[in-house]
Amino acid sequence: MSKVIIRKAEYNYNTLKPVIFEIMDSLGGNRIQTNSSVLIKPNLLAPATPEKAIVTHPLIIKAVVEYVLDKGARPRISDSPAMGSFDRVLRESGIKEALAGLDIEYKEFKDSVSVDIGKPFGKIDIAADAVNADFFVNLPKLKTHTQMLLTLGIKNLFGCIVGLSKPEWHLRTGVDREMFTTLLVKIYQAVNPSITILDGILSMQGQGPGKGGEPRELGVILGSQNAAALDIAVCKMLGIMPGKVLTNKIAGDHSLATDEITIDGNLPQIRDFSLPEITPLVFGPEKFHGFMRRHLVQRPSCNDSLCKLCGECRKYCPAEAITQSRKKIHFDYDKCIRCYCCIEVCPHGALRTYETLTGKITRKILKRLKTP
Ligand code: SF4
Ligand code: SF4
Repeated sequence: MSKVIIRKAEYNYNTLKPVIFEIMDSLGGNRIQTNSSVLIKPNLLAPATPEKAIVTHPLIIKAVVEYVLDKGARPRISDSPAMGSFDRVLRESGIKEALAGLDIEYKEFKDSVSVDIGKPFGKIDIAADAVNADFFVNLPKLKTHTQMLLTLGIKNLFGCIVGLSKPEWHLRTGVDREMFTTLLVKIYQAVNPSITILDGILSMQGQGPGKGGEPRELGVILGSQNAAALDIAVCKMLGIMPGKVLTNKIAGDHSLATDEITIDGNLPQIRDFSLPEITPLVFGPEKFHGFMRRHLVQRPSCNDSLCKLCGECRKYCPAEAITQSRKKIHFDYDKCIRCYCCIEVCPHGALRTYETLTGKITRKILKRLKTP
């Protein structure tokens, strides 16, 4: 049975620090080895001041950093912000200022390693520093999310997908919300954070997770070794059926959490938390989604002269996006989730990825816009 700790807290460093130290101690923080590297992954979605409740509060990060330094280890703060440069998020959120003078490394997720996360995705690229961390502290913010209902412990780890690969995955899996959620759960399994501590002191309700949301004071911090259990505990606190948050359902399907959780502390019963209206997983006006998926994400393509019509790709395709006529195979690019499994299984090397000219140009423009 997984344990979830809940404590009342406020952004007063004198009282907050002992709370974070106690949570870290009771969740196995003592396993942090001297000289080891400890990855700290807050929610650094976008440049925003702490009062906006968009990013994990600097004082929570500071307390975790001090705990790690007390253990003689090397703390590193990393993320791959969806909007704005990493440095700008650190400055505008007040993190750089709050942590001034502490021996800490800031390192944006940039390099990825290929990790086999199983069917239907196979090998995907995940931030190398997240996969290889000696000890990983996940620091999500409690926020609503117009695509996922809430963003909590598991969803925070989508930040371990580097840069432009994030919107690309939205496009690839956006045909199916369960598919996208399965991806999130598999990323959680791959990076396997040692401890998750959720900042619920100033949370966000309404149309989160960005500027459309509304800050809401809840005055709590939750911690667990099991991010899936922590997410379920948050739902219980907010009076939401845990299965309504798809990450909980899919985590349950993968036996990562059950409703049987030991709560250490008093879980308040909040019944007026405002939830968002759910929007599609793919950004931009809905009428462009098909176009965006068709043109902005590399698609599988067949060299008909090499294809032996063996049907292996069609049998394997998890989205049933391949059909076969007497002379060739055909792709339904609206159904295709771009998992590229067909390319891997083709025994005759007939399949390749193909990027349209529109895709190439858009990728270049987006890269330039993202460069600070
Ligand atoms: S067509 Fe290929 S890339 Fe598309 S979903 Fe099927 S197996 Fe995956
Ligand atoms: S697996 Fe390869 S050879 Fe077989 S039908 Fe598909 S593309 Fe053709």
